[in-house]
Amino acid sequence: MKEKAMYDVVILGSGPAGLQAAIHAARRKVSVLILGKQTKSSLYHAHVENFCCIFNIAGEDMLRVGLEQALRFGSEIWEEDVLNVLQDENLFEIKTESGRMVQCKSLIIATGAHRNRLGVPGEKQLLGRGVSYCVECDANFFKGQDVAVVGGESAAVGGALTLLGDSKSVHLICEKLDVVDVLREEIKNSEVVIYERAKIEEIKGKNEVEELVLVDGTRISVSGVFIELGAKGVMELATNLGIRLDDEAKYIQTDKKQQTNVPGVFAAGDICGPPWQMAKAVGEGCVAGLEAASYAKKLSLTESGRSLQK
Ligand SMILES: Cc1cc2nc3c(=O)[nH]c(=O)nc-3n(C[C@H](O)[C@H](O)[C@H](O)COP(=O)(O)OP(=O)(O)OC[C@H]3O[C@@H](n4cnc5c(N)ncnc54)[C@H](O)[C@@H]3O)c2cc1C
Repeated sequence: MKEKAMYDVVILGSGPAGLQAAIHAARRKVSVLILGKQTKSSLYHAHVENFCCIFNIAGEDMLRVGLEQALRFGSEIWEEDVLNVLQDENLFEIKTESGRMVQCKSLIIATGAHRNRLGVPGEKQLLGRGVSYCVECDANFFKGQDVAVVGGESAAVGGALTLLGDSKSVHLICEKLDVVDVLREEIKNSEVVIYERAKIEEIKGKNEVEELVLVDGTRISVSGVFIELGAKGVMELATNLGIRLDDEAKYIQTDKKQQTNVPGVFAAGDICGPPWQMAKAVGEGCVAGLEAASYAKKLSLTESGRSLQK
């Protein structure tokens, strides 16, 4: 049988929420392990210019420095995915993709939210180079340019209207406009060019987005395409533990201490719902890290009290 490592706090996810949680937990002098790959963080391909105190920085650089800080304060990292988490009395038992097992007293889930991808050629290759999943984050980079939004629900329609103010042209591509009447009227009366019953076949561009090709052969010249199909949290690990989700079963529900309904399990960042922003992720990570460290310390004290009584 494989040997099980033991930590006070294990953090699932090495994005900004997980890293900030690690920094704060480790400074409370508990043992901390981070699990997850930085290249899979939403931040990895982002360029951030709305994070307080920093004008302009590549997400990849932020992640690198955040990890260095977390390690400097004593956290450790295993850069691998988690396959399963189980509860064994007061402890949590985690299995990673390489088959390693680790136990912990408290657990922080910071696995981010998976954006609904289009799954078309060019989307992955041009991510961060014209392809975006967040109008709010990236609209500023496309001022005065031709842009498109993909999706037919309120997120996409609202995003297209937001872009209208500063863009040269805005194209909305959807299979069906699925919004309340007021929004439908607003978009139909706006200057947004709407392509209904339309589907993207390919996003084209050498180094940056240049053109969208629709299934019916229509070609649209744009330098930015915002894919606004909503987002879904990585829920499998959470639901296995009996963690309560929100009403739409998309995100983890927490209280103000970032605590879930399962004692000892905390959550932070995009997995707790929108807005999907660094500032929110690190704020929640900070609280989760401090609370998870206190929980682990209290559990250690209770356990040592019990063994003294024996
Ligand atoms: C293109 C783009 C541009 C953006 N621009 C901005 C911006 O300008 N400003 C801003 O504030 N925000 C921006 N964002 C949003 C920001 O990146 C996120 O809000 C932030 O990264 C959320 O942090 P997180 O730690 O919750 O999740 P993430 O950063 O997504 O990290 C999730 C982590 O969980 C790990 N993970 C997932 N599943 C598992 C598993 N099974 N086992 C182990 N680990 C797992 C991943 O590997 C990753 O390390 C942008 C996002 C994108 C995609």
